[in-house]
Amino acid sequence: MTKATPPAPVGAGEELRDIAGQAADYLLWLKDEGLHQVEVAVPVIPSGAASDLARVAGVIAGCRKCSLHQTRTRTVPGQGNPTPEILFVGEAPGADEDEQGLAFVGRAGQLLTKMIQAMGFERDEVFIANILKCRPPDNRAPLPEEMETCLPYLKEQIRLLKPKVIVALGATAVRGLVGLEGISKLRGNWSQFEGIDLMPTYHPAYLLRNPPAKKDVWLDLQEALRRLGRTPPKARSQG
Ligand code: URA
Repeated sequence: MTKATPPAPVGAGEELRDIAGQAADYLLWLKDEGLHQVEVAVPVIPSGAASDLARVAGVIAGCRKCSLHQTRTRTVPGQGNPTPEILFVGEAPGADEDEQGLAFVGRAGQLLTKMIQAMGFERDEVFIANILKCRPPDNRAPLPEEMETCLPYLKEQIRLLKPKVIVALGATAVRGLVGLEGISKLRGNWSQFEGIDLMPTYHPAYLLRNPPAKKDVWLDLQEALRRLGRTPPKARSQG
């Protein structure tokens, strides 16, 4: 019986076969030279929540879906622990955030840091984000169409972060995530965002104007801690 002749390699197939042949010859030569082990560097392809969040931040950085891209300095995707127990959501970047590309780094952000620390966390243990990823000019309130356009980014972030509790800071965050109005009635009462417990409370910027409301916020944050199975620290932040 005659043996079937394999088809003659053509084009790229032929080239690959050549390369493989040369590599095999080279390895045999190394073996003859006494080398019996070869280390191969395999590139590490990052995976998991952190790289997925970085991918979302990259998409946000190139976003031109609304007119805010014309006036922004930097996009502010949010930052923190990619697998947090708590996610804090504010309204939109202000001047400091727009300049640095980081959420809550101005005066309100410093107060938020104190609130987080009073709860027994450090800032990098939680995730901090906003409803809008770009600063509205002159810090005006976000427009409904801007919120609608930008919300899919936050929703994708929440899907990746899988926080156990969301703390919605102020009326805009509550409206954006729960669709409800009336922060002074809603605060302190559990709500839900796509199956995740959500605690509405006042925005730190409001607390800077109205310090007596800090005691209400501390009650809300303690409630969030209990929902996480944590015992709230006794003293509240005096920040
Ligand atoms: N206010 C917000 O709502 N978000 C920030 O990042 C800063 C101030």
